[in-house]
Amino acid sequence: SAKTGGRGVVVYDPAIDQTSQESLSLLSELRRALERDEFMLYLQPKLDLASGSVIGAEALVRWVHPEKGFIGPDNFIPFAETTGFIRMLTIWMLEKTAAFCSELQLRGTHLKFSVNLSARDLMDQDLAMRFAEILTRYRLSPVSMCLEITESAIMDDPARAMATLEKLSNMGVSLAIDDFGTGYSSLAYLKRLPVDELKIDKSFVMNMEQDMDDARIVRSTIDLGHNMGLRVIAEGVESEAVWFLLRQMGCDQGQGYFMGKPMPVERFLEWLQHWRP
Ligand code: C2E
Ligand code: CA
Ligand code: CA
Ligand code: CA
Repeated sequence: SAKTGGRGVVVYDPAIDQTSQESLSLLSELRRALERDEFMLYLQPKLDLASGSVIGAEALVRWVHPEKGFIGPDNFIPFAETTGFIRMLTIWMLEKTAAFCSELQLRGTHLKFSVNLSARDLMDQDLAMRFAEILTRYRLSPVSMCLEITESAIMDDPARAMATLEKLSNMGVSLAIDDFGTGYSSLAYLKRLPVDELKIDKSFVMNMEQDMDDARIVRSTIDLGHNMGLRVIAEGVESEAVWFLLRQMGCDQGQGYFMGKPMPVERFLEWLQHWRP
């Protein structure tokens, strides 16, 4: 790229050029990844903490790059968000997850699957309609799917986010507030959101057995959620001790490495067969 220097001289800036070049090629790689089916749907189980029975799973994306290999979402989701590519990826995730959910239903297994939405998705006027079309095509009831949204994604543009959330909620889709406690939304907002689930961020859950402050935060969040009529789920459950502690505190559901790490669909099917509460 070229920029104008102090005296009107055109200065070539290789640093700027390289970064924009890099992001351009990353964006085209992401587009190609979608065409060549390089993204993979991973699933992480969600359990009822009291009974240990399986409620469903969270859908998480992975990228298997032909040269660079396995790439986790933290390495491309932020970029996909700033470029707007995320909207295509979200539709792909909704499609894959719905397909799997309906396949399971045909075999008699009824589970609930959640998909993550980004701030960009909430700005998308057509998202609710496109999701409705996917549900119809797979003959799925909206209650078999849940959408997870972070507080900060909502606070990007609360009015527009609210409009999308209301459309989705009117369709009968469950909505969850993700990473609860890490954002900066006010409780006044939370009160008005049409959500039915609150997900406690893993940073509070992982060490709650050793850290009394974390334990107090988790306990208060469970009570807050319940007092607002919400279902409460804890993520980051890494030990049986944390599971028991959460259960004692009345937390409804749990998700974490102790029960199962995110896994490919085939492995999730095996996991389902072998899981005994
Ligand atoms: P998230 O939505 O908060 O997802 C939970 C993350 O916590 C996952 O990381 C999961 O592997 C991890 N996790 C679950 N249980 C445990 C545990 O017991 N211990 C620890 N240490 N970690 C646990 P993952 O799959 O790497 O995803 C990271 C983030 O990337 C997600 O955080 C989400 O914000 C984003 N992401 C992943 N897939 C998608 C997607 O399809 N769409 C969007 N918009 N974002 C996605
Ligand atoms: Ca999530
Ligand atoms: Ca989360
Ligand atoms: Ca997160």
